[in-house]
Amino acid sequence: MKEKINTRFVVVAGGVISGVGKGVASGSIGKILKEYGFNTTLIKIDPYMNYDAGTLRPTEHGEVWVTEDGGEIDQDLGTYERFMDMSIPKKNNITSGQVYKRVIDRERAGDYLGKTVQFIPHITDEIIDRIKKAAEGYELAVIEIGGTAGDYENVPFLFAIKALERELGADHFAHVLVTYLPVPAHIDEMKTKPTQQAIRLLGEHGILPDFIVCRSQFPLDEIRKKKIEEFAHLPADRIIAAPDISSVYHMPLELEQQKLGAKLLKELHLSATHTPDWTAWNERVHHIENPAQKVSVAIIGKYLANGSFSMTDSYTSICHALIHAGAELNTGVDITWIDAERFETNLDALEELKSFNGIIIPGGFGNTGVEGKIKAITYARTHGIPFMGLCYGLQLATIEFARNVCGMEGAHTTEVDADTLYPIIDVLPLQKELLKAHQYGGTMRLGAYEATLTSGSRVHALYQQQSQEEVSVVYERHRHRYEVNPEFVDQLQAKGLTFSGHHVRSDGTKLMEFLELSEHPFFVATQAHPEFKSRLGNPNPIFAGFVSACTKQKSDVAFASKDAGIHISV
Ligand code: GLN
Repeated sequence: MKEKINTRFVVVAGGVISGVGKGVASGSIGKILKEYGFNTTLIKIDPYMNYDAGTLRPTEHGEVWVTEDGGEIDQDLGTYERFMDMSIPKKNNITSGQVYKRVIDRERAGDYLGKTVQFIPHITDEIIDRIKKAAEGYELAVIEIGGTAGDYENVPFLFAIKALERELGADHFAHVLVTYLPVPAHIDEMKTKPTQQAIRLLGEHGILPDFIVCRSQFPLDEIRKKKIEEFAHLPADRIIAAPDISSVYHMPLELEQQKLGAKLLKELHLSATHTPDWTAWNERVHHIENPAQKVSVAIIGKYLANGSFSMTDSYTSICHALIHAGAELNTGVDITWIDAERFETNLDALEELKSFNGIIIPGGFGNTGVEGKIKAITYARTHGIPFMGLCYGLQLATIEFARNVCGMEGAHTTEVDADTLYPIIDVLPLQKELLKAHQYGGTMRLGAYEATLTSGSRVHALYQQQSQEEVSVVYERHRHRYEVNPEFVDQLQAKGLTFSGHHVRSDGTKLMEFLELSEHPFFVATQAHPEFKSRLGNPNPIFAGFVSACTKQKSDVAFASKDAGIHISV
């Protein structure tokens, strides 16, 4: 029997090329609908055959997003969470891999009672079932279909959406096509033809867009608007211009200026239950676009020679968490990406770090650049530069302290040196077995884990300051296999390293979640990825503390150099 739901859907499909901001458009639409008073969720369909994004290379596909419930999924879900200020579970990312695996598993288990298992209806029914499960309990759901109209692998999903529309009624659906209007340099004219083709391709699946969001470098002019209008049989007010903007957080404002929210509600036969108030959002966007001051931060990572686009994309959430923290402090954060290997071959390069107000060592895997990262941590520790370590960043900060403060020469993580005398970072026995059996997919320590904070620590103060009430336990998201080795914790603490938060496993093992150095202006690291829980208007406390420390470092340095008479006015 078919499960009944009463959710209404906004389906966002893409045309022309990928990577033009379909995720940002979907997140913005979700945010707008939420502001009109509707209980809204978002669903991402990824037509690739991978079961999830956990085994995809970040430099090719972008960051792997981690959900509260431990999913390793597409980074668009991160965009949705940042716009919506809500947690979105892993079931909201539907891939071809999941759909086919489930249908084949069911066939093997004899679930289809001797029937021929076919693309239609078995694959499409499975898709519909997953959409319904993700949308259940929500008044509205935005479904973003990955890829672009015309992709072979999109076909089952578009078919399933059409079938669901037939089941629930056309009044339950609004279709949005996000296209791109290129301006080829040699003709210097905005072209609508690719958009016309995208409309036609979507039409082959029985889907005619109700709205077209036109992404472009420049605003859409009346002539092109008219052309699209005629080709899509749409009134002019349904063609929405979305030219490039300096901050993605400007997108909901841009769409609302063209009254997209009210128009979507009309299409879905809904009346608003709340009048949106964009004042606070507007103010934060203003801070992002015109900050009163700027700080300069170095992110020292492992970068493949893949162009600057890919490298920053694999650390998207860190950039956003810095933006969120900066928006509260009316401070812009300028990021410089430094390849850690640079510090291995050229020791003088470390002196470049002097010019930054803060240093971040992000998450990572394997041995590339590890010694360079450790050298940078020594520099931050001994020069009083604000430092934030995330996941691998905490592990390497612990190794740095063990080697250089505790005298444990050659201390390391067994991820890099399996035979080290001082395995400061190691895997727990269960993980050892998984690694031996080559079970890599979905087997790390994933998702939200509880950490008990050490009373009176800096980390404790940061979380408390943010929530403005007593906080002793926090939940941050994880994605790692290795841990601080419990055998070394006492020795490290005796020399002055404070572990300011821990998690207790069901077998009683204590896992270190946060560390800090009390004498340093700001030296904080966490085994988690707090960047996954930062949202505009609700920054993560560790990032907020770090950016605030960077602003202080900047004013202290300016003050010191003024004192020293370095500034000469003529
Ligand atoms: N490589 C480390 C581990 O697996 C850290 C992972 C990370 O930074 N996400 O534990």
